[in-house]
Amino acid sequence: MNRLFLLAASGVLLAQTTDIAEDRIRAHVKFLSSDLMEGRGVGTRGERLATEYIATQFALIGAKPAGDRGTYFQRVPMVGATTQSSATLAAAGASQTVSFKWLDEFVGVSQLQQPVDQFDAEAIFVGHGIVAPEFQWDDFKGVDVKGKVLVLFTNEPPSEDPKFFGGPALTYYGRWTYKYEEAARHGAKAVLIIHTTPTAGYGYDVVRSSWGKEDPQLKLAASQPALAFAGWLTKEAGEKLAGMAGKKVDELLSAANSRDFHPTPLGIRIRANIPTKVRQIESRNVAAIIPGSDAGLESQAVIFSAHWDHLGIGTPVRGDSIYNGAVDNATGCAILMELAHAWAALEHKPRRSAVFLAVTAEEAGMRGSEYYAEHPIVPLGKTALDLNFDGFYPFGRTKDMEITGADRTTAWPVVQEAARRMNVTLKPEAHPEQGHYYRSDHFSFAHAGVPAFSINQGSDYYGKPAGYGEKVFQEFNEKHYHQPSDEYRDDWDFAGMEEAARFGFVIATTVANQDKLPTWKPGDEFLAARERSGVH
Ligand SMILES: [Zn+2]
Repeated sequence: MNRLFLLAASGVLLAQTTDIAEDRIRAHVKFLSSDLMEGRGVGTRGERLATEYIATQFALIGAKPAGDRGTYFQRVPMVGATTQSSATLAAAGASQTVSFKWLDEFVGVSQLQQPVDQFDAEAIFVGHGIVAPEFQWDDFKGVDVKGKVLVLFTNEPPSEDPKFFGGPALTYYGRWTYKYEEAARHGAKAVLIIHTTPTAGYGYDVVRSSWGKEDPQLKLAASQPALAFAGWLTKEAGEKLAGMAGKKVDELLSAANSRDFHPTPLGIRIRANIPTKVRQIESRNVAAIIPGSDAGLESQAVIFSAHWDHLGIGTPVRGDSIYNGAVDNATGCAILMELAHAWAALEHKPRRSAVFLAVTAEEAGMRGSEYYAEHPIVPLGKTALDLNFDGFYPFGRTKDMEITGADRTTAWPVVQEAARRMNVTLKPEAHPEQGHYYRSDHFSFAHAGVPAFSINQGSDYYGKPAGYGEKVFQEFNEKHYHQPSDEYRDDWDFAGMEEAARFGFVIATTVANQDKLPTWKPGDEFLAARERSGVH
């Protein structure tokens, strides 16, 4: 299906047709999620097949290779680290030593990427472990924590004020990934997060099941700081630890919520032996570029991204061991390829270039996009925007879209205008306190300062009764999410994906033609990173 769009670009009206068709999206999804692709596991034959397919599509379209040495591939070296079940962790106080039980009381992994890892270091409580100058918040207060084990909580100081840690919405400072990064920057030996269900937003069983297996990490660069142990303790284990210092977990947490908090030595040593199985993993992102038409702006680009990986071959469910990942994320890859196709078909190319990036290892914690942000093909200060596509339901068109994070950027008017033209309602984020914004590949770009967000379908379907969207979401989530049954079906409706692709296309072509690069709005947690990259 072709539709005509009128795009306002820098005050010039530009007529362009967008050649975006649901049938091609369907064909890509069908192929990428077929059993032949073996679930597209990182470092497997399925990876080679799927990434070759995407690269071949880019070549057929006429998009140029943007990877290493003239290829479509950007090598992503990774290390899989698995903590062995013989791991031990103990707290030694003046009068007693308490040992914690692997999985039942503590989980975690070494980031050193070495087979053995032992330490014996002083424990210090650092509250939320946050340094956020824009909110005048510093849990470290200049205390030297080098070589120490930091005990802390995940999440952030509670707030109702949107200008202070995002109010009820989670900011990146509240994510556990931030805690480990900040601790490593301070030269800490290890981190123990005391789990509580309210601070984590989920029960300890979720922590246990996601940490009790191989952790795929980006290969450490020389002299890059890393933790000997990035771990979690259950609340009960936390009580034992706090008790040895004459304290209670809830007391520690309320102390952490004060701006006047000061790091507190616990008078305890943490002794650990963390035997780790280490495996080298070679993976790759797929990258193509279509050059811009303006000699002055061609070196700048908009980026479209989607993760190609899924869970590969795993535990069989009802006799099926291939985790096909049709919705997650053959759909996003199909949209990515269709966008490249449409961009290549434009008679008048936008002024800036367009990069099409299929990233690896999203399921392992967004490692492929993280690697890209550390090794960008177009410098971050010349990257206008990242639009990410991840997980589309094949149930038809929706009247709404969820574009969380877009309103935090100066590209917001472009998004609003695209929505107005396409008669799309912009749906507010359903659960900002859960921080979903920080759990998809666009976040790797935002973290590095690039305005970035995902285009997500809404829930108000054309021709369907109220509540239908919520119902199909719940059903998919319960029955098929990360299961072998996330499989292609001929009766799927791809019209919603066509619409999402079109919506992203309008936004990106408009931004690619604007005079100024977008940035983050004043007060945003990512503005400083944007300014460091050279965009003001
Ligand atoms: Zn997934």
